[in-house]
Amino acid sequence: MFPDLIVKPLGLKELNKILPSLPKDRKFLSGGTDLVVRANADIENSQCWIDISGLKELRYIKENAKTVLIGSGVKVSDFEDSSIIKKHLPALLSALPQFASPSLRNMATLGGNCANASPSADLACALVSEKADIVLYLKGKKRKMPLKDFFLGLRKTALKKDELIWGFEIPKINHKGVYMKLASRSSFAISKIGLAISADINKEKVEYLSIALASVAPKIITAPKTRAFLKNKKINSEILDEAALIIQKEVSPITDIRSDGEYRRAMSGVLLKKGLKQILVKF
Ligand SMILES: Cc1cc2nc3c(=O)[nH]c(=O)nc-3n(C[C@H](O)[C@H](O)[C@H](O)COP(=O)(O)OP(=O)(O)OC[C@H]3O[C@@H](n4cnc5c(N)ncnc54)[C@H](O)[C@@H]3O)c2cc1C
Repeated sequence: MFPDLIVKPLGLKELNKILPSLPKDRKFLSGGTDLVVRANADIENSQCWIDISGLKELRYIKENAKTVLIGSGVKVSDFEDSSIIKKHLPALLSALPQFASPSLRNMATLGGNCANASPSADLACALVSEKADIVLYLKGKKRKMPLKDFFLGLRKTALKKDELIWGFEIPKINHKGVYMKLASRSSFAISKIGLAISADINKEKVEYLSIALASVAPKIITAPKTRAFLKNKKINSEILDEAALIIQKEVSPITDIRSDGEYRRAMSGVLLKKGLKQILVKF
């Protein structure tokens, strides 16, 4: 169901001013690619939407000495031309062409991908492997947490009422990265499984590694046991086989309309091996 009221503040000051006067049952609207679909399906039925797509404060990609800073209102297509993303965030860059379609990428935002808290969110998964922190904003105050801890469960996040995702802070770590997605089509499809790897491999030895997975648990997850096993090891086929068995035990996939649980489990090992091999070629 669509709301009775949609308001569009043109700045943060205006948002803070009008918030108390709005119906209590309210939601933020950014690109609308999740919210409108849910309203059409009658799953979404809040009374008021606050259209935040006009908040210029949330649309930035910048960097300082140690960190890349991204606003929650950045559209997926904005990343495609960013030299900062190309230079520092290879796993996120790798996820972009696998996200939906060009028309969707012109609408969908990074903030919406995370706030929606779908276990299949491609960009959220890539960002978790990039070790992103998420910055949240409520009534003039900001707080920060690791993005992996922001996801509490299926469509559940740490967001409080009226709290806005302000943006993301990602450390500049020397690494290569890859995002791999299996889906029923090569575009316009939600994943059966997604796997992001950020790694620094020196003479085949894993010096830095971060792994995140989509669509294999109720939320985006990391694979700490697999990571600990691979850290400081030299990559060879036996080590890769062992790592694949470990990651298969770390996932808890279900069978649903998109895929079979056991297939997803098997593919977590296959994609891990494939991704690490791809990263080795890049060094
Ligand atoms: C055809 C189709 C294909 C798709 N393909 C993919 C795909 O390949 N991969 C993928 O990951 N997703 C896919 N999606 C899902 C969707 O496009 C993404 O999740 C998108 O990033 C959502 O962003 P949005 O700006 O459109 O969010 P919206 O729909 O505007 O909002 C989604 C939710 O987030 C909340 N929200 C939005 N911004 C903020 C904010 N700054 N602070 C707090 N809350 C906020 C809203 O209140 C709402 O609950 C697809 C959707 C469609 C319709």
